[in-house]
Amino acid sequence: MPEIPEIEGYRKKLEQHVVGQRIRDLDVQRESWLNTTLDAMKDGVIGRQILYVERRGTDLIFHLDDGRRLLLRASQGSHMHMEQCYDEAQPDPGTAAEGNRKAQLSLTADNAIVTIHGARTGQFLWLTAKELDEQQKDHGPDPLSRQLTPERYKKLFAKRRSTLKTAIMNPNIIVGIDSRFADDIAFAAGLRPSIRTDQLQDEDWNRLYHAMVNVLQAAIEQGENGTVNIHGVADDMQNDGEAPDKSIHGKAGEPCPCCGTLIQEMLIQRRPAYYCPQCQPEIPAHEQ
Ligand SMILES: [Zn+2]
Repeated sequence: MPEIPEIEGYRKKLEQHVVGQRIRDLDVQRESWLNTTLDAMKDGVIGRQILYVERRGTDLIFHLDDGRRLLLRASQGSHMHMEQCYDEAQPDPGTAAEGNRKAQLSLTADNAIVTIHGARTGQFLWLTAKELDEQQKDHGPDPLSRQLTPERYKKLFAKRRSTLKTAIMNPNIIVGIDSRFADDIAFAAGLRPSIRTDQLQDEDWNRLYHAMVNVLQAAIEQGENGTVNIHGVADDMQNDGEAPDKSIHGKAGEPCPCCGTLIQEMLIQRRPAYYCPQCQPEIPAHEQ
């Protein structure tokens, strides 16, 4: 579950198909994912109702009716699968476990079974509200948080001088932006990823904030359009994670979608970054 758009897609599906139901069973392949034993977690969460599911960056947080939370974080390459049980009968946990042998995690609710596959590593934490805050205290806000405004966004970067790309990928500033989105956001804002953040003016921050929201929203919508129909029994929600149309990440040597200039690659802290030399000038152009 690598990136925000996919995770947001999962969150919406969970909201549609799982929220409001009670947890009936739980299984994990490796207890190292947990912050307690599986037995203790099962004792605590089975029978609890899922009130809502929240996304913070790439973490999914299940809010339970006893005030506790379940935090799910799975590594890149993993995906979530949801199977609905239309029968009046409860899903048989035995059968479910059988069918989901390869799943790293399976959560059975009243009418649906949620499984995680393909994860090399992951965490599934059973936390009090306070423990969750503690867990997330070093994280910046979610880029799509309703509390975030262009002004607050700019303030997050104050006193953090680095290149633009490094800054927008720093989870202590804003959580959940990976290399691909960092390049596409910088491109959408017309700012070169190598620019130092102290060179940016208010209008640049403003453009950058809106570029971030637009790029992520476009990717979320694209993921939704690409999802498999949800009427079938197996609701496999994996999408290809295709980049938005105006993505330039990884496209060195290809024409810029805006001006046709060839996309360039550069290294920032030894990692490749992609940009259009025409649309993203070396020094930001400011209206005087
Ligand atoms: Zn261009």
